[in-house]
Amino acid sequence: MSNDPSEQQQRFRHNGRIIVVSGPSGVGKGTLLKKVLQTAELPLELSVSATTRAPRPDEKNGVEYFFLPADEFHWRRENGEFLECFEIFRGGHWYGTLRNTVESRCAAGKWIVLEIDVQGGLSVQRQFPDAVMIFIHPKNVDILKERLAKRGTESQEAAEQRLQQAAQELKLAERYTYHIVNDDLNVAARELMDLLKSIE
Ligand code: ADP
Ligand code: 5GP
Repeated sequence: MSNDPSEQQQRFRHNGRIIVVSGPSGVGKGTLLKKVLQTAELPLELSVSATTRAPRPDEKNGVEYFFLPADEFHWRRENGEFLECFEIFRGGHWYGTLRNTVESRCAAGKWIVLEIDVQGGLSVQRQFPDAVMIFIHPKNVDILKERLAKRGTESQEAAEQRLQQAAQELKLAERYTYHIVNDDLNVAARELMDLLKSIE
């Protein structure tokens, strides 16, 4: 598989686009994207990543993620099936974007939204310099703690790990092109929608 960005872009581009949305865990990426995907009159599709983490009670395989056993994830990784993949939350779980889903949907003219961490986002940017890079910020770090607690899907230890990771991610935010603060949800969703319409 070639790592040459121009060659890769050639294969993907058919009016399709890659849109990377990153931001610390709990900032509201999922909530914001759900709102925008429901209302935006754009050919947006959310990419479904693979992960080795266990599904949360309301999550379904193939909808939020492809939940893979670790051995299958690593087999696929060695087989070059991921566009990018990383171990997130130190010593925790693996997450990755499957190459074939992005490739086929992009070739069909879709704007594929990758809701992925900063390491993954920067890797996609290196491979596809024309990917649209959007970072979602919290109004302040305390809000993240509140939102993770409100969501209630992580143990206290896991939430703590996510907050530590958040500090690292915020340091790399400047590498992204577009920045949105998710304070008021409706305002942030409008900004994201306007931004996406402006790149049409
Ligand atoms: P992420 O996908 O970035 O990890 P989520 O979308 O799961 O974050 O949001 C984390 C929690 O914060 C959820 O309980 C969600 O309802 C809440 N939330 C998201 N955006 C806002 C907002 N603008 N104001 C208040 N609560 C929010
Ligand atoms: P969660 O466990 O809350 O669903 O996601 C945790 C983190 O993993 C989030 O920051 C999310 O953006 C990131 N993530 C989800 N899918 C992928 C992926 O395919 N690749 C990478 N690099 N990160 C991902």
